[in-house]
Amino acid sequence: MGSAVAAALLFVVPALAAPRQKPDSALQRDLMAHIALLASDDFEGREPGTEGEAKTLRYLGKQWFDIGLLSGTNTPAHPWFAPVNLVAREPADSAAAFARKGRRIYVPRASVLMLTSGKRALVENAPLLFVGNALNPDAWDRNELAGRVAVMLDGTHKGGERQNALLKAGAAAVLTVLDGGRTLDQVAARRKRSGYALASEALGGDLEGFIAADSFDRLVATGGLSLAGLRSAAAAPGFVPRVLDISATLEATTRETSIRTHNLIGKLEGKRPDTGAVLFVAHWDHFGRCAEPPAEHLICNGAIDNASGVAALTEVARRLSRMPQPDRDIYFLATTAEELGLLGAEAFAENPPLPLKQIVAAFNIDSIAIAPAGTPLAIVGRGMTPLDPQIIAAARAARRQLVLTDDANAYVKRQDGWALLQHDVPAVMVTSAYGDIKRLEAFFDGDYHRPTDVVKPTIELGGAAEDVQFLVTLGRWFGDSRKVPLVVK
Ligand SMILES: [Zn+2]
Repeated sequence: MGSAVAAALLFVVPALAAPRQKPDSALQRDLMAHIALLASDDFEGREPGTEGEAKTLRYLGKQWFDIGLLSGTNTPAHPWFAPVNLVAREPADSAAAFARKGRRIYVPRASVLMLTSGKRALVENAPLLFVGNALNPDAWDRNELAGRVAVMLDGTHKGGERQNALLKAGAAAVLTVLDGGRTLDQVAARRKRSGYALASEALGGDLEGFIAADSFDRLVATGGLSLAGLRSAAAAPGFVPRVLDISATLEATTRETSIRTHNLIGKLEGKRPDTGAVLFVAHWDHFGRCAEPPAEHLICNGAIDNASGVAALTEVARRLSRMPQPDRDIYFLATTAEELGLLGAEAFAENPPLPLKQIVAAFNIDSIAIAPAGTPLAIVGRGMTPLDPQIIAAARAARRQLVLTDDANAYVKRQDGWALLQHDVPAVMVTSAYGDIKRLEAFFDGDYHRPTDVVKPTIELGGAAEDVQFLVTLGRWFGDSRKVPLVVK
């Protein structure tokens, strides 16, 4: 429905000629005060499970309590702070043994790396099947891959995707020959930092490995083949996978560390909570210490990402709390572990304090100290929820310009609203930060996720303050059960 509306209105909903919302310099000062504190070195980059988390949640919890919010966890055992248990996984042991006709072939231990996303994965005496570049494994006979170790050339293009397709097509494991630009050390270094999950998440049992090109060459030489020969066979038209007459026993284990962290949840009670709820979200976490000496500044303070968002969340709560009581409950959620893969939002959705179908609308706030006052708003998630017509109507009523293109949707998976959307919660971001994509991309190319995302005298809060004002408008609008009825899904 969003696109039909867009076509009718061309690309921008024009503000009416009358005066817009007045700039609110007091609000900008309040936002700045929150950001300056949350992004100070004292908060250590707000990493989940650290003293930085404790300081952040103590500060936000007190602000929200003083505003007059109530705990929104709806469990007396855990008021305000909903525990979220994470595991950090890093590769532990890796082992690979190869044999031809029962005779062991020596391969240096350091030239093979086996990895799993689960705790432990093992295949024993599985035959190797050379699959070349593995460009279309979906087209192959599943029986051919089943129980076998698919041996794939790395080349240069989308190795991870080809590997996953092989696993999906039934391979017991995938062994990638590093014949392209990547080295084993690079693969290992990359893996070290990417393994976070909710503790409740089922473990994957996949098994993937990497072997250095020279070792693979010596391995197949025992059967009179060479890497060069296999490579040209793979490039020839009509290539079909080829059994290598070598078997492998491969094993990978993962070390797990538990991290106990929290979502902060507050609420404003409505008069008619049976009519549903509105949810505002912003992630409080960031990367903590993210650089090594000799760099001088070692902390990723996350001033824009996302001290600005939780500052705005807090000021939206303050303003809504001073207004007449809405029909609906309004929830405020400061999520943990967004930076580790939207895990706090996922935990909220898996264990929500209210039935998710009660949530009429969710508005995420992420990295909004980007655009100056007067920048039009954009909807991240436009066309993906039933909310667009009401947001457009609210923008008209508030005399705010709204960009109606899909440009902002390029970023929809990179924010907590995406985790909520996966659970059918209508979640969008409505913000000036995405109203000028060029300016946003300059941030992504610059300070984003770097130790330079600190409070600067030049930090732009004009658009952020206007975002707060419009989010308050949206809170009133969607909190009104006559204006926006609850459609039970
Ligand atoms: Zn981020």
